Amino acid sequence: MAQTQIQAARDGTVTPAMERVAERENRGPEFVRERVAAGQAVIPANRHHDALDPMIIGREFATKVNANIGNSETTSDLETELEKLHTAVHYGADTVMDLGTGSDLDEIREAHIEHSPIPLGTVPLYEAVKRAGSPEDITKDLLLEIIEKQARQGVDYMTIHAGILAEHLPLTDGRKTGIVSRGGSIMAKWMEENGEQNPLYQVFDEICEIFAEHDVTFSLGDSLRPGCLADACDEAQYAELDTLGELTRIGRDHGVQVMVEGPGHVPMHKVAENIERQQEVCDGAPFYVLGPLVTDIAPGYDHITSAIGAAMAAQAGAAMLCYVTPKEHLGLPEEEDVRDGLAAYRIAAHAGDVGNERPGARDWDDALSEARYEFDWREQFDLALDPDRARSFHDQTLPEDNYKEARFCSMCGAEFCSMRIDQDTRDIGEMEAIEGEERTDLESSPAADVNRPPVGTHQSGNLPPMADHEHGDPLEETGDD
Ligand code: SF4
Repeated sequence: MAQTQIQAARDGTVTPAMERVAERENRGPEFVRERVAAGQAVIPANRHHDALDPMIIGREFATKVNANIGNSETTSDLETELEKLHTAVHYGADTVMDLGTGSDLDEIREAHIEHSPIPLGTVPLYEAVKRAGSPEDITKDLLLEIIEKQARQGVDYMTIHAGILAEHLPLTDGRKTGIVSRGGSIMAKWMEENGEQNPLYQVFDEICEIFAEHDVTFSLGDSLRPGCLADACDEAQYAELDTLGELTRIGRDHGVQVMVEGPGHVPMHKVAENIERQQEVCDGAPFYVLGPLVTDIAPGYDHITSAIGAAMAAQAGAAMLCYVTPKEHLGLPEEEDVRDGLAAYRIAAHAGDVGNERPGARDWDDALSEARYEFDWREQFDLALDPDRARSFHDQTLPEDNYKEARFCSMCGAEFCSMRIDQDTRDIGEMEAIEGEERTDLESSPAADVNRPPVGTHQSGNLPPMADHEHGDPLEETGDD
């Protein structure tokens, strides 16, 4: 059997995927190999996913962003699902999770894998519920059958809700919002109805063997994550985390890469505590967090409430951030929601990288600031995280071409433009020196390839073109998995 990435790394082999990741992250191949060998970073790269451009998730690498897609019982078709994938890649997602629960799941999953340049994750439990008809009728054999099928199809990482145990369930009794993870609520119902331990926990060794064969990466689900601030960091959450630490070690012993999922809803003063505890309990395994939302009061703006927590989590050591859109808790996101959610999370990820002083991370900021101070509007738009939005906002008040050379914008107006006044008052010799200085060379920056391109880091040429989204491009709900 071919080696997994972690097995090869432990044997001292630098795989082609590690070479590619090193190139993308501007790190040495040996640096990458060591982190993968130690389990501190994962390269989700199923052997059967031919279209993949390998990437890495780990706290010493650029912070990554995941977007969720997938159909529901009321939507949609293959073409629409491929378009959702394109939208996610276009707006800069580093990985995508297919949380589909509708029809044609196999056909859609296979098409996603065939076309996706970024790793694809799934939650096999959802398909098991569909096949079984109800949570309590799921069998262990069915779970293994579905996991093996999805592994053969080329899924790069799977959320496995094996950490919620029967003894954890009473710990949720006093919670304000109970169990908010979809997978967690399904497993809790199964255990209550069948009077047995979590079936995914029971067959965890068999799952490891399947994952090792196809090199699927674990994303250990946090079924007991808090669904509100009042439940954050409670006994239930941390009891499950201890089990996730145990499962992390079992996975690694089988030669399987492991990352661990985290909350959810956490007040600002407890965000770092969550990351530090996970890193200790799970022996440095990459932490993949949903937000967290730092306040519960702002439905309609939860991309903001959660991006605040996500930035703090990134700085504290989270390796990947699962985006939240403005529609969180309210409904199915449309394309503009996806755009806003991904922008918020790419800002959070980049802010975390700057805060952690990752090599070259701030070069992007410096390049944009230089363009701004020099009134090089076109360069400023090109460098913006979302160039189309920056350009269109400028054009709303000053659309004519000559304003792209102007030494002011409509915010302060020509007379009160502080940057123009500042330049006019500065010593002319100094200005010449500034103008003569070399611009920050973003293309050769260590950060350029991993987080700069506003429309993602991947070739999406083999994906279908984006449609006219006048009526929106609904993606599957981002929330609880
Ligand atoms: S007018 Fe104000 S906002 Fe616009 S470029 Fe000048 S200082 Fe900046």
